[in-house]
Amino acid sequence: MTRVLWREGWIKPLLTETLPSENCSVCKKEFNDLDFVTSCEFCDIGIIHDSCAKEHVISDHLKELEEKIEKHKEKRLHYFQ
Ligand SMILES: [Zn+2]
Ligand SMILES: [Zn+2]
Repeated sequence: MTRVLWREGWIKPLLTETLPSENCSVCKKEFNDLDFVTSCEFCDIGIIHDSCAKEHVISDHLKELEEKIEKHKEKRLHYFQ
């Protein structure tokens, strides 16, 4: 069954029939209609629930996340100097 998924910043909703899997790669649950989904910016995990993404990033990419935050801080400092 095709379900419609939403991803922030997307113009078009995503249809599950266009995905390689109808299950979230983090929680392994099937997507429901109008679930908010996203993908990981640090790896190719695929489409995952918006709510699962935070958990995934914190457990798998804490180091990358911290580096990214540091970079942002530097940028801000330069901007205001
Ligand atoms: Zn999930
Ligand atoms: Zn990831």
